[in-house]
Amino acid sequence: MFEEKKSSNFIHNIIDKDIESGKYGGDVYTRFPPEPNGYLHIGHAKSICLNFSTAAKYGGKCNLRYDDTNPVKEDIEYVKSIEEDVKWLGFNWDERRWASDYFEEMYESAMILIEKGLAYVDDLSQEEIREHRGTLKEGGKESPYRNRSIEENKKLFEDMRAGVYKDGEKVLRAKIDMSSPNINMRDPVIYRISHATHHNTKDEWCIYPMYTFAHPIEDAIEGITHSICTLEFEDQRPFYEWTLREVGKWPAPPQQIEFARLNLTGTIMSKRHLKKLVDEAVVEGWDDPRMPTIAGIRRRGYTPESIRAFCEEIGVAKANSKVEMANLEFFIRNDLQDKVPSRNVVENPIKVIITNYPDDMTEDMEMENNRNNESLGNRTVPFSKELWIDGDDFMEVPVKKYFRLFPGNEVRFKGAYFITCNEVVKNEDGTIKELLCTYDPETRSGLNFEGRKVKGTIHWVDAKTAIPIKIRNYSNLMIDDENGNQVFNEHSLEETIGYGEPSLKDAKPGERFQFFRHGYYIADSKLCNEEEKVFNKIVDLKSSFKVK
Ligand code: ATP
Ligand code: MG
Repeated sequence: MFEEKKSSNFIHNIIDKDIESGKYGGDVYTRFPPEPNGYLHIGHAKSICLNFSTAAKYGGKCNLRYDDTNPVKEDIEYVKSIEEDVKWLGFNWDERRWASDYFEEMYESAMILIEKGLAYVDDLSQEEIREHRGTLKEGGKESPYRNRSIEENKKLFEDMRAGVYKDGEKVLRAKIDMSSPNINMRDPVIYRISHATHHNTKDEWCIYPMYTFAHPIEDAIEGITHSICTLEFEDQRPFYEWTLREVGKWPAPPQQIEFARLNLTGTIMSKRHLKKLVDEAVVEGWDDPRMPTIAGIRRRGYTPESIRAFCEEIGVAKANSKVEMANLEFFIRNDLQDKVPSRNVVENPIKVIITNYPDDMTEDMEMENNRNNESLGNRTVPFSKELWIDGDDFMEVPVKKYFRLFPGNEVRFKGAYFITCNEVVKNEDGTIKELLCTYDPETRSGLNFEGRKVKGTIHWVDAKTAIPIKIRNYSNLMIDDENGNQVFNEHSLEETIGYGEPSLKDAKPGERFQFFRHGYYIADSKLCNEEEKVFNKIVDLKSSFKVK
């Protein structure tokens, strides 16, 4: 259905060549390197699947590495969630590493650069450094501190480490080329002063390496061969290579390979923005089922299998684009359709009285749980004189081609009888109180009845035994406002109350169902309990997606 072009995996092509040439002695070592500053989202899932399955494909290894070089934004709460998410997706890391464990080696690497005359301490302010940097068209200006002696730079850098200076007073910069056409090569800052407590190293350090300097060193220390990252780092690749070459400690340094970030329509893929929604309590938390976080989609009811299949299918691209949310939905629908049992649930219920049905009789109707999967067996559903049907399954004045219930029409009540609507009883305010109907005992489901044909089949629940349930329907987290800006969708959560067949009272948090003719649902892991049955809609039964 989706004509997603499956790009041949160019990353695997690169690895194939490296194996052939013996570049890393045939080894493949990847890593997934999150910064523990938020919960992972489905974009990260893409990176996780890519890194772990690439390693698996080549019999290699993959590390989980916390890129925790920024003391201010990171938190141990996030570490826990990251591990839960990676495991939930079905992957196990070979080693768990912390970038902060390498601070000493990073410091030594910086010292090597200083000693080679390739790094200097700069007193310019952040603002001044920006002004000196130049533009895409114009080269930059050299800092007046650029030509300090090696000895002076060593002393100053030691003093930076020792805490002699305040935040922002000095930085260490690589000495490369202020006229480079690549702005990232114009003496990038590699160390900054930050008197902040780090979650791992506490107050041991008051200088921290910049991400772009730390990352290649982290990769090299771990023996990573292929450092897969997203496209925004493409312009950083020369600096990545420069760092490893000039520090010079690693005979077969890792190589950086970039691919396009995953973006999805109708949502937002940025920890910073997602954190804002959480902090401002616009959503119920990081695991709100509307969120594109792995915790959110897990609670929403997605399966790890569906996420992995989706990531595999979209492949790796070299140009940024947005993937339709409908594409992701396709994979969960596909995964659930043979797996989960069906249940009868009605929303906006309308009462039906079967006037010719015996008052105190109840029949147990046999129903199949999943018509694609016999092994899920059957269940019995009670049927009696008073029933509920779905609000959408009745029209007092039917529109054209409406084959469901309306006055004078006969329909099949799925798994029970043919029912005819004879009369609509109204409340004083004009709303429908109940429908008076009759059934035909000859048409009982399972009997070899070869009589009239009816065009419509609807479902129902028995009023005496039905249990009230709360249904949470979700739509896109983000929408475009009139100016084309992406904003939070105020209608992204809509709750309805319905009735379900009695077996749903045993639904356990996390259990998934098809609500017959409605869609796929999961008993919410937090809100569904003995007293209240709360279900999240995972996805509709059919895609409403239209190719534009
Ligand atoms: P965000 O902008 O959402 O904070 P990030 O890139 O800063 O994301 P990191 O924790 O630094 O988050 O990312 C860990 C890894 O996941 C990196 O290798 C990054 O490139 C990758 N990654 C992050 N977002 C995506 C995405 N949308 N698609 C694919 N990979 C991603
Ligand atoms: Mg980041």
